[in-house]
Amino acid sequence: MADIVVVGSLNADLVVRSSRFPAPGETIRGEDLATIPGGKGANQAVAAARLGASVAMIGCVGADAFGATLIENLKQNNVDARHVLRDGSAATGTAIIIVDSSGENSIILSPGANARVSENDVEPAILAGAKLLLLQFEIPMEAVLHSAGLAREKGVRVILNPAPAREIPDELLKMANFILPNETELGLLARKRITDKASLEAAASVLVSRGAANVIVTLGEKGALIVGRHSKKYVSAYKVKPVDTTGAGDAFIGGMAFALLRRKSLQDAVKYGCACGALATTKFGAQPSLPTAQEVREFLRSA
Ligand code: ADP
Repeated sequence: MADIVVVGSLNADLVVRSSRFPAPGETIRGEDLATIPGGKGANQAVAAARLGASVAMIGCVGADAFGATLIENLKQNNVDARHVLRDGSAATGTAIIIVDSSGENSIILSPGANARVSENDVEPAILAGAKLLLLQFEIPMEAVLHSAGLAREKGVRVILNPAPAREIPDELLKMANFILPNETELGLLARKRITDKASLEAAASVLVSRGAANVIVTLGEKGALIVGRHSKKYVSAYKVKPVDTTGAGDAFIGGMAFALLRRKSLQDAVKYGCACGALATTKFGAQPSLPTAQEVREFLRSA
């Protein structure tokens, strides 16, 4: 029985580094292609498992070569992949990722089999005994809502990463114990332009006023902001030299989930998430950059 269940996406990330992003209609030269396991769901599952949590994943891949690789990758990272289905009529989800010389990324997502995850795939038995459910928006909303509802029934705490941003039903905001958007996603969800601290805090408060218990906004090199019904707290980032920010948010979420399992306070769990996120930016790729608990310990000792 796993402590953390992730219901979410699995993608093959096809990554090319280039000095800059191409303009529309332009062809530019990049470095060699790297094919890396990704998808927010799988990344977060691997992030928590690599730190030492017991994790099970529910999702869907195609019956193609990428699908087999993604399942094998979960197993190699000690994630229980028995509930990842293979759909012969869909292509495995793919993300085309360009990374520029400053480490910034630009992504096109082809959901493929991730769009086939249905509420029937989320069997109540898988959640029995779990402590945390991790959800994102790369699978159909019905499956997300159904999973959150089951988790609430079973007393499993829900961490919702509303990414990529889309409309969140109030019902889901109320079911999630923790909502974790980045700054851009928060702006879209709250329908607010975020230009400074005041507009950032106002946007987070919109989600709280709609029923969210705790909103944790990740702010890249500025760390994170925690907003609750009666509280507001900034947590600073660790100083690093980023080479590729892909997966920083997923590393943060895996780290925060792992720390919550260890009964850390929310603020300490967010701080731990910041360490994982910072470490993830110092290596190329999403999953390859996710740290182990040992790496986080050493990083914190020298930070
Ligand atoms: P996302 O990858 O979802 O856009 P962020 O960029 O906000 O998410 O990154 C998630 C977390 O990773 C941040 O809250 C921060 O703690 C850490 N992080 C990201 N970029 C940096 C950076 N350049 N320096 C230090 N920490 C970073």
